[in-house]
Amino acid sequence: MFDTHTHLFDIRLLPEIKDILEKLKDHRFKGVLCICETQQEVDLFLKYYKLYDFLYACLGTHPHNSKNFSKKNLIDMYDQLYLTGRLIAIGETGLDFYYNLSPKDKQINCFLTHIYFAKEKNLPLIIHSRNSEEEIYNILKENNVSNGVIHCFSSKHDFANKILELDLYLGFTGIITFKNSNVILETIKYVPVEKILIETDTPYLSPQPLRGKINTPLNLYYVLEKISEIKKIDINVLEDILDKNAIRLFLKDSFQNNEKSK
Ligand SMILES: [Zn+2]
Repeated sequence: MFDTHTHLFDIRLLPEIKDILEKLKDHRFKGVLCICETQQEVDLFLKYYKLYDFLYACLGTHPHNSKNFSKKNLIDMYDQLYLTGRLIAIGETGLDFYYNLSPKDKQINCFLTHIYFAKEKNLPLIIHSRNSEEEIYNILKENNVSNGVIHCFSSKHDFANKILELDLYLGFTGIITFKNSNVILETIKYVPVEKILIETDTPYLSPQPLRGKINTPLNLYYVLEKISEIKKIDINVLEDILDKNAIRLFLKDSFQNNEKSK
């Protein structure tokens, strides 16, 4: 499995981080994408990435923190992560007009800066969207963004269609296991399986049986299982498809080389 969105080095997971990493290794995770937003998260990534070959990094600024965004810090952390060879995406970035923890104009500016930065570095974007569908769509369309994923997708079928037209992927979390998730389940029925990614959003959004607890990538199986049930695809077959989707989006170059050598 490939967990395409985690805050693995969040302070809440630190007491157990060694144990979690060992278990992920035992379960042969193909990838765990770690969102790095602070120097502390970057430092922890630098500490562990050599020991665990499934760890990948993503660098960005959550829309909540747009008001404190500094491009200098972004570039500085980029330079550190670039050297690992495992920096595979920019994000999470986007717009959150539900909580509005940063002013709208700051969120939009910060999002645009991340879009240009990702294009300059030729990396996919991990996009956060909440109560901002129209604005997100317009910005993505105007800037020809077609390389990335809308993470934690929880909107209706019509928004999913617009995102698919842009050729972006949709990431689904443990929310799809919640009892009131009918809208998302309907959406999943219409999304081609080749455009689906799965994620835990660790330490948030634990799936139903563990709801309210601290989440870890080890719970990704519940998301896989639910999608297998909705799509009526055998779970092992689906796992392989979803792994390939993540590899295609995030590890294109090595994927193409592997495909050629087959
Ligand atoms: Zn997140």
